[in-house]
Amino acid sequence: MDKKDFRKYAHELVDWMADYLENVEQYPVKSQVVPKEIFNKLPELPPTKPEQFKDIFEDFQKIIIPGMTHWQHPSFFAYFPANSSPPSILGEMLTSTLAAQCMVWQTSPAAAELEEKVMDWLKIMLSIPQSWSGVIQDTASTATLVALLSAREKKTDYLINQKGFAQQKFRIYCSSETHSSIDKAVKIAGFGIENLVKIEVNDAFAMIPEELEKAISQDIENGLTPLCVIVTLGTTSTTAIDPLDKITEICQKYSIWVHVDAALAGSALVLDEMKWMIHRIELADSFVFNPHKWMLTNFDCSAYFVKDTESLIKTFEIMPEYLKTNEKETVNNYRDWGIPLGRRFRALKLWFVIRSYGIEGIQAKIRNHIKIAEDLEQKITLHDQFELLVPRSLNLLCFRYVPDANLTNEELNNLNQKILETLNASGKLFITHTKLHQKYTLRMQIGQTEVTRQHVDAAWELIKKTSIEINSK
Ligand SMILES: *Cc1c(COP(=O)(O)O)cnc(C)c1O
Repeated sequence: MDKKDFRKYAHELVDWMADYLENVEQYPVKSQVVPKEIFNKLPELPPTKPEQFKDIFEDFQKIIIPGMTHWQHPSFFAYFPANSSPPSILGEMLTSTLAAQCMVWQTSPAAAELEEKVMDWLKIMLSIPQSWSGVIQDTASTATLVALLSAREKKTDYLINQKGFAQQKFRIYCSSETHSSIDKAVKIAGFGIENLVKIEVNDAFAMIPEELEKAISQDIENGLTPLCVIVTLGTTSTTAIDPLDKITEICQKYSIWVHVDAALAGSALVLDEMKWMIHRIELADSFVFNPHKWMLTNFDCSAYFVKDTESLIKTFEIMPEYLKTNEKETVNNYRDWGIPLGRRFRALKLWFVIRSYGIEGIQAKIRNHIKIAEDLEQKITLHDQFELLVPRSLNLLCFRYVPDANLTNEELNNLNQKILETLNASGKLFITHTKLHQKYTLRMQIGQTEVTRQHVDAAWELIKKTSIEINSK
């Protein structure tokens, strides 16, 4: 493709993108294709000769788009929000045009220094201690692995990096509701999944601190070494909030690293009324949240903050001759702040978002999502055939349809599963499920950038209508 064609198609694509964002509601939210439908439409052999971009783009529209689930559809209520926004998309366009590798300061000084600045801004916006350092990681999964490795190295005076694992058994603690990325990180970091202790939760699915302390004492008695507790603010299943203040107090006593996983809920810390979630954060050691979930910023962009920057850098630092530079003391070489060497210029889209919306614009979006969820919670609670299965803490509702008190739990599970499948097949909305105390639970999160009360009202009407219809069949 020559530069002239690039300009022509770039303009066409921007028009397509703007049309897409304007008309996204015309697509079925959840892709309606069956397994292998897309795969079988694609040619067996790669093209030998160059193809026209016009043909490629036509196939994109014809073959690829029907196989997409539209996460930016305002009636996307499934999983978690992975919202984008127009300024973020524009930032991504520039990042891919510059296509710089932002591994050390001199490979793009602006990328390093903008990253340092926007991470400082986020600290102010979320009330993360100002003495901590921030760095953008690709995902929360990576950030948690980075936290565990830093904790491991700090505890052993950087010995495991040097000599490999010895016999010492480290113990990691989290609640039974913690995200699966914790299990994965524990395996990868070499601790052994048997050393991940899942602490019991209360009725609100939050970690019980007394149970944590019991487990820690017992482990110490048995000659094991407590290393790290992962506190979740906003669990995946129900958005439960672990009590950070009580947990940090316990961990202080035993010198245990506290890592806070606020992948989803962290964005809500822009609101003064939600700051209670990080009461005593100054006693924790690291914190991660995903602007790529609920802060209007395209995937990938995960903000990781750490108290002891030196422990982070000492864990990951490498210094081959060809990467040596002179500026080490005064600038950040983010290569040494995480796992990959190569890094995308991710700060740019975040800068575009924060400047375009301002703190007040971001607050307004998130506050609105929470308010809409609060109103729907009321409707569900007041409806005599719907049951809220756990009190709402942020923007997620967990509920089920109970048309008749005489139905068994299994009958209710089958009924609610059928309701979910029918709703999603309609293409009008997309919700997902979880299981709470063996109860099949409809799970609806309100967090897409452009979602309004009208979308949620329409969804609630459809949920009620569909539930009644399926039950009377
Ligand atoms: C989404 C989520 C994760 C995983 O985030 P990635 O960025 O996809 O790795 C981890 N923990 C919690 C609580 C989450 O909500």
